[in-house]
Amino acid sequence: MARPAHVAIVGAGMAGASAARRLIEAGLAVTLFDKGRQVGGRMANRRDRDTGLRFDHGAQVLRAHGSAFGARLAAWAGRGLVAPWDGPDRFTAVPDMTAPVRDLLGGLEVHVGRTVTGLSRVSSGWTLALAEGLEPRVFEAVVLTLPGPQASRLLATSGLVLPTIERATYAPCWSLMLTCARDLPFAGDVLRPAGGPVAAIFREATKPGRPSGKPAFTVHATPDWSRTHLEDAPEAAAARLISALSVLFGMPVAGQGRGHRWRYALVEETCGEPCLYDPRERLGYAGDGCLGPRVEAAYDSGLALADRLVAELA
Ligand SMILES: Cc1cc2nc3c(=O)[nH]c(=O)nc-3n(C[C@H](O)[C@H](O)[C@H](O)COP(=O)(O)OP(=O)(O)OC[C@H]3O[C@@H](n4cnc5c(N)ncnc54)[C@H](O)[C@@H]3O)c2cc1C
Repeated sequence: MARPAHVAIVGAGMAGASAARRLIEAGLAVTLFDKGRQVGGRMANRRDRDTGLRFDHGAQVLRAHGSAFGARLAAWAGRGLVAPWDGPDRFTAVPDMTAPVRDLLGGLEVHVGRTVTGLSRVSSGWTLALAEGLEPRVFEAVVLTLPGPQASRLLATSGLVLPTIERATYAPCWSLMLTCARDLPFAGDVLRPAGGPVAAIFREATKPGRPSGKPAFTVHATPDWSRTHLEDAPEAAAARLISALSVLFGMPVAGQGRGHRWRYALVEETCGEPCLYDPRERLGYAGDGCLGPRVEAAYDSGLALADRLVAELA
């Protein structure tokens, strides 16, 4: 029997994971590479090394607008991997925001801590250069699932162009992981203040499956504020956001905060297509940059690109 076509996926966020699961189900072979220390991409979680508390410092809420992601969310809810939070039809992941991607990638070949730095066309397919050394295998097809500008830069190493990829633009977001001396004075799971540098404050302790009662918060700055302070050091951005919280609540906010800059956080303009694919070169792009600033968009885009590949290679 002929061996199945082997697809390399760069990026193990939601788009890479949904594409990988669909390709594997269709009988193709898949290998994923991600530069991060764990899978999930912007569906992220970090443990504070001083307090031991955990923060989802990227995406917070999962919502389904369409049927594919709706069915997937329902299945995850049935297995306890997502649970309602922050209002009707809104879910968070359990035990943390990386859980859905980890579920999709279960049993697959995933290499984390691997940064892909170059793509080369060879007669039988593609080879990848990694910052950590050359990947020796040849892949029949390559799927890029990085934020659009990063995908564009990687694509440039191959000499290929995917028209319209440049249309995807992103707003940045500074995220503050804050452990407070005492609780912040607002009711409910999330506070979305009107005006000021803070876009939203998320109460980690009310998320299902987290240690209850600990005054831990993830704070997201607005796109405008994040743009203005894009090149701040993380400590400086964190200190400024803690000051902004003191102003917001009209009282000193005492706490320990760490800042994380998402340079490409939320899509502002999309490519306008579910995915981009060059059938002659067998190279494609999927991600939220195709369809919009949501986990669901990344999921749907990954499926759309996988379907194109399955139609050709399976
Ligand atoms: C602060 C913030 C809040 C958000 N809030 C929400 C929300 O509440 N609800 C919602 O639906 N969406 C939210 N989003 C958006 C959502 O997180 C994204 O739309 C979605 O996760 C994008 O998935 P993706 O797979 O397209 O990209 P990503 O998750 O960015 O995955 C891309 C992966 O590629 C990897 N990578 C990059 N370069 C390389 C390289 N050279 N080599 C190897 N790997 C590489 C990265 O490490 C990353 O894991 C939020 C995003 C942020 C940042």
